[in-house]
Amino acid sequence: MNKDWKQQDLEYCWHPFTQQQEWKQQSESILAIQSGQGVWLTDHKGRSYIDGNASIWTNIHGHAHPVINQAIIDQLSVIAHSSYLGFANPLASQLSSELIHLVNDTDLKRVFYSDDGSTAVECAMKMELQFRKQSQQLDKVEFIAFDQAYHGDTMGAASLGGVAIFHDKINNQGAVCHHVQHMQALRKLPLETIEKVCAIVIEPLIQGVNQMRPWPQGMLGELRDWCNQHDIHLILDEVMTGFGRTGKMFAYQHEGISPDYICLAKGLTGGYLPMAATITSEKIYQAFLGEVTEHKAFYYGHSYTANPLGCAAALANLKVFREEKTLDSLPHKIKVLALSLDKLKEDHPEIYEVRQCGMIVGIELRQTNQKKFPAEQRVGHQVCLAARDHQLLTRPILDTIVFLPPLCITPAEIEQAIEAISKAITQVIATI
Ligand code: PMP
Repeated sequence: MNKDWKQQDLEYCWHPFTQQQEWKQQSESILAIQSGQGVWLTDHKGRSYIDGNASIWTNIHGHAHPVINQAIIDQLSVIAHSSYLGFANPLASQLSSELIHLVNDTDLKRVFYSDDGSTAVECAMKMELQFRKQSQQLDKVEFIAFDQAYHGDTMGAASLGGVAIFHDKINNQGAVCHHVQHMQALRKLPLETIEKVCAIVIEPLIQGVNQMRPWPQGMLGELRDWCNQHDIHLILDEVMTGFGRTGKMFAYQHEGISPDYICLAKGLTGGYLPMAATITSEKIYQAFLGEVTEHKAFYYGHSYTANPLGCAAALANLKVFREEKTLDSLPHKIKVLALSLDKLKEDHPEIYEVRQCGMIVGIELRQTNQKKFPAEQRVGHQVCLAARDHQLLTRPILDTIVFLPPLCITPAEIEQAIEAISKAITQVIATI
C-alpha cells in the first residue's frame, strides 16, 4: 500500500494496445496526467502540454469546462445512476430529442444508448441482424467493411475491423465480414456474396486508425446509391468524426446523404464520460414492434445504458456547442491549421504526406527516398516522445503523427503545436 503510483502501475496494471515489456523498460518516460484545463494537460511533475490528440479523440471543448463540470456536479447531487431498463430518464429523453434534431433527417428518428464506440457499433450490428431476421430476410447475415477500417474491440465490432493483425489475434472470429479496399472493389463483389450482406459499415470522410486517411470526395453518395441498389443498410461509424471534428457536426453532413445507422461515442459527452448512441430509422425500429409474446424486442442493453451523469455531460456538451458557437469558429481554425501544415511540410523532406480533414490531421513520415522507415526505428513513437519537450502530447499511428486537438484550441495554440511537431521531427531525424 506504500508503493507510489508508478510502482503500482508496473506491478498491477495492464495498458491498452501497449507492449508492457517496453512500457516497463522505458518506465522513466511514463507520465501520469494529473489535471487538465482547456486544451492543456499537466503531468505529475507539473509540466504542461497541449492535448494534441484530444485524450484519444474524445475531448471537444477542453478539460474542466465550467459548463460541463457543473452539469455533472449538479446531476451527481440528484442521482449518479439508476436503470434505463424499465424506467424512463428525462435527461435521456431530452438528449435523444436534441440528437435527432441535430441529425435532422426525415428517416432517422430513434436513439439507442450504450457505453463506448465499440458498443455503438456492436449495437448497430446486432440491431441489423435482428431486423433482417424479423423481416424474414434470413439469408442477409453478413457484413461488408473496408480494408484497414477500425470499428472497436468488442467481438462483433472487431470482426468489421480491417487491420489484419488485430483480427488474427482472435482467430478471425466474430461476424462474417467481407473487406474491400474501395468503391471499385465493392462494385466487383460477386452477386452471391452481395445477396448475403445485410449492412456495410464505413468511417465517413476519413479512416482514423488507418493513419488518418481521407476517402475520395463524393464517395458516401456513391456508397449510398450502391446500398440502395442491393438492399443493404449503411452504418456510419462517426465515433471519431462526430461532434465537429470534420468542420460539421457530423461528417456525413458534408455529403448530404442519409444513412441507416449512425454510431456516436467519444465526443458525445464532450470527452468527459463514457457513453454512446446508435441512431437509426423509424423503418428499422418498426420491425421490432409486436406483442411481448412475439419476442421481437431488441435483446440488447448494458447496466449503464443512458447513465444520468453521461446524459448530463452530453447535454452540456451540446449546450456549449450552441453557446460558444463552436462550429462557427472552425473554418478559421481549419485554415490556420492548413497553413501551419503547409509550412511544416515545406520544412521537412521526411514528411511524405500531410492528410487533413477539418480538425483531424495525420502527418506521415518516411525516408527522403519515400520508403518507410524500418519499423524497429519507431520513428513516429520517437517523434511523439520528443514533442513532449516542446509541450505537446500526442500518439502516433505507426510513423504517422496524429494531431486531433480539442476544438476549443486557439489559432495561436495550433501554431504552437505544429511548431512542436516540427522541432520534434528535426530532433529525431538528427539522431537516426
Ligand atoms: N470506431 C472508430 C472510428 C474509432 O476511432 C474508435 C476508437 N478509436 C472506435 C470505433 C471504438 O471506440 P471505443 O474505443 O470508444 O470503444
